[in-house]
Amino acid sequence: MSLSSTTRRSYIRLLRQGYSHHRISPARCPSRPFLSWFRKDKQSQKTKEPEPILSQDNLFHPFSNSPFPAIRARGEAIQKLAPCPVCASAHNSVSAHTKAQPRAVKFECPDCGWPTHCSEEHWREDEDHKKYCGQLREVNEDEHDLRSGRRFREFELPGPQDSEAAISFANWDVFWYTRGFPSMDTERSRRHASKILTYPLTIGSVLHQYSYLTLRNQRLTPEGSRSLAALRTTLHVAPGAPEVEAASVSKPQMRIFILGARAESSLPPHVWEQLCLLFPSAQFHLFFIGPQVSLPRPASEYKQPTNRPEPSTANTSQAESSPSQPEESAKVKEVASEVKEGPGMDATPSEAKNTDLATNSSEKAASSVETIAPASQEGQDGGKKPIYVPNVYEPPTPAPIARLKRTRESIGQYGVPSYTVPYTPQLTITGMQASYIEVHGQFQETFDPYTDCFFLFSPGLGFPSPKSVSEETGEPLLQIVSPTEWGPVMPLLLASKCPIFVTGFSPADVERDVRSLSAAPDVAGEFDWVITPGPNSFGSEKWEVADFDPRVMVKTNWGVWGIRGKRRDVQEKKAWF
Ligand SMILES: [Zn+2]
Ligand SMILES: [Zn+2]
Repeated sequence: MSLSSTTRRSYIRLLRQGYSHHRISPARCPSRPFLSWFRKDKQSQKTKEPEPILSQDNLFHPFSNSPFPAIRARGEAIQKLAPCPVCASAHNSVSAHTKAQPRAVKFECPDCGWPTHCSEEHWREDEDHKKYCGQLREVNEDEHDLRSGRRFREFELPGPQDSEAAISFANWDVFWYTRGFPSMDTERSRRHASKILTYPLTIGSVLHQYSYLTLRNQRLTPEGSRSLAALRTTLHVAPGAPEVEAASVSKPQMRIFILGARAESSLPPHVWEQLCLLFPSAQFHLFFIGPQVSLPRPASEYKQPTNRPEPSTANTSQAESSPSQPEESAKVKEVASEVKEGPGMDATPSEAKNTDLATNSSEKAASSVETIAPASQEGQDGGKKPIYVPNVYEPPTPAPIARLKRTRESIGQYGVPSYTVPYTPQLTITGMQASYIEVHGQFQETFDPYTDCFFLFSPGLGFPSPKSVSEETGEPLLQIVSPTEWGPVMPLLLASKCPIFVTGFSPADVERDVRSLSAAPDVAGEFDWVITPGPNSFGSEKWEVADFDPRVMVKTNWGVWGIRGKRRDVQEKKAWF
């Protein structure tokens, strides 16, 4: 991105209208990465960076010839899961006569390197492949880049914000610029950085007073603006007052309940800290709640205090890089491996273009997880971790997260497997591996629309439940009404009158979830819109490709919307007077 300094100044001037004019000490340098404080001296900074395994002009490799075992393993997984699209369409049109199943994808497209068809012949026949071949090649190169061993400047996250410089939430580029990130020189860097930051920034950009979701662009409703105004009294300071940490003393903690959490619960805490740094005078308590929340590794796995284990997601191929900057490189590596293996793909088979195929492949997916796992026993992590776990109908629970010095068990407090870590004075994180319904009672009486809100990242409200079927039709229930998923939860969230923000991974996913609201008896007619459904400016820009069908591609947190329980009491009172 190239903004002239004049443009930048006018941005900042524009954004600062009516904002704090408090002066800060010039010694505080906003663009200096927080982590650079850990650097010992100039000498160590000069230590030359390790030679990357792959250079930037050598990132494309067909999956079967990849230098990285995880990518070769993914190719093998796709070959077991995905049906050839040309066979599949032929199969559909003559299915009455033939019993032939679509053949698996064995042939790797030379242009994108993914296994895409059963044979070269069918690859040549398939005109449709051209439509997504370029995207697949982009993902191929991104995956190799993440393992290339280069220095990832895009994961060197900035420290505290200069209170003179307002942050813009117009889009990723302006955000990165006004927030003092290292410049994102390539689209690839932008994709990597957006994937890791999409969870904290989706929350931050919705809640912040400078949100891009406004009454003017009709993404915010009048009811919604009241809800957000309430939360913003906790998140910000009174107009004109300095937005500094000291102002947090007199304010209550902001509680963000992230329900059905999966990948987001395994993000390193310093990535979540980026949310807090958007609100210098607020204190946050994040609650990750869901059956697939990632818990810290058991303390027993940390045998010798001198033998500090690698974070569970660390990649051995990068373990020896940058010895001169241990803290920084460990954090950057942690983020890099999170992008590789972490925030998984939440696409499900019904995203696929053909339902028959989808059912088929989800069955196959289940069995292939078993067949792939033993093959990887000699894998990098003492045989415990498979080299590659395919993304399937139900994404696996993320690997355990690192246990920090102040991490403590919370099972005594919440009665479910859980932990709490006071990460910084501004940020406390609690994770509970449980259904929300199991712990709701502990919070029920405490909800307050001034301090609390809910975030549901790709909850699949409009997806069929894998567990519950309708008694009348025998068909799977939609998750929004299913007793084993969101059925009992949504009415409780609405009753709290706290706003509920929801994301989806594609336009179809958002539409499906929104449509399901009207199908749920205790939800339909019981809510007001806060944020109208539409694109999320802080979604991930990286394509996530489905292993069961590489034609299916989605983007994490593509869209966002929000609702809140109807305030009937107020309306009824009005009617009486
Ligand atoms: Zn074929
Ligand atoms: Zn291709």
